Amino acid sequence: MAEHLVIVGSGPAGWTAAIYTARANLRPLLFEGAVTEDNRQGGTLPLGQLALTTEVENYPGFPAGDLSGYMRSALAPEHHYLADMHQQEGCSGPELMHLMRQQAANFGTRIETDDVVEVDFSRRPFVLKSLGGMRVEAHAVIIATGARANYLGLPSEERFKNHGVSACAVCDGALPRFRNKPLAVVGGGDSAVEEADYLSKFGSTVYLIHRREELRASKIMVQRALNNPRISIQWNSVVDEVLGNDKDGVTGVRLKSTVDESSRDLEATGMFVAIGHTPNTGFLASALDMTPKKYLKWTVPFRTHTSVEGVFAAGDVADDYYRQAVTAAGSGCMAALDAERWLAAQGL
Ligand code: NAP
Repeated sequence: MAEHLVIVGSGPAGWTAAIYTARANLRPLLFEGAVTEDNRQGGTLPLGQLALTTEVENYPGFPAGDLSGYMRSALAPEHHYLADMHQQEGCSGPELMHLMRQQAANFGTRIETDDVVEVDFSRRPFVLKSLGGMRVEAHAVIIATGARANYLGLPSEERFKNHGVSACAVCDGALPRFRNKPLAVVGGGDSAVEEADYLSKFGSTVYLIHRREELRASKIMVQRALNNPRISIQWNSVVDEVLGNDKDGVTGVRLKSTVDESSRDLEATGMFVAIGHTPNTGFLASALDMTPKKYLKWTVPFRTHTSVEGVFAAGDVADDYYRQAVTAAGSGCMAALDAERWLAAQGL
């Protein structure tokens, strides 16, 4: 028998879609992704990008406080270790994601810890195949596989992830380790300037490291960078190595010039990488219409419909602009309602 609804992806968009559709008695089946070395290295393990961050201070409903008692009562026993690890700052990314997962499971979401690796949307019911060898038919599908941040790919960068290396200033910028300290941002697009501008509220100096002598960012953002006395643009430079140690995490960056043979070290307690994102749409091949950067296209304004009727998209996989947990959760809710209405209109 074909499933009513399959959800692919396990970030805020996927779990919100699951909570809504489970409560609508659609018995959603959700593929949360496989726990594999490939996914670990690619930043695509279950629970999404939020599970790779530390404190979450901007998700409404989780002010600073001791969440551990609530976590112990809310989560299944195998996840109580999170309550023991809890610190007093409010909520961490992994905690928030486990809470969302639990909430979806409580309402009857069936969860497969497996990757969807192939789809056939040219026939109905749709067909999805998994890494583990499952073949599932579904009347409706919500794609919520998110996007992964691009990193430079340096071993030293990998070593200090979550110890000073981050790809999200809005998520991590306010942490104590970055206060009144020099910081580095890598990239020359709108994101990099926005991150540098945001971080200049916390850091003493923000080095914006760009590989050319002209920013890619829009004019207004370029002006913002140039007018901000705390932003120091390091032109024609790339990060050759992230400097640091086990105790302090990141302590600086070694820059290499792109125009001559010179190199130099800058002191910094953090390095924020803002060199773009890659949406997780490879498994879809050409089944759905995508933008040139391979983000899924919403084909109806402010609706989550894709180019195939019955297939919906939510979260960062269809959003290269806002990219926040709360906007992903919001569009997950939209996709759930769109899918529910579409199934009802089909008499399914
Ligand atoms: P982007 O525009 O693609 O810029 C990426 C930047 O990273 C470029 O400057 C690029 O350098 C640099 N880069 C790429 N790979 C690199 C590498 N391996 N080493 C060093 N530098 C590297 O990406 P984005 O800034 O994330 O923006 C994505 C989209 O969102 C854009 O359309 C943007 O306008 C939009 N956005 C808008 C706002 C806003 O309006 N407030 C804010 C954020 C994002 P090159 O320039 O040399 O290629």
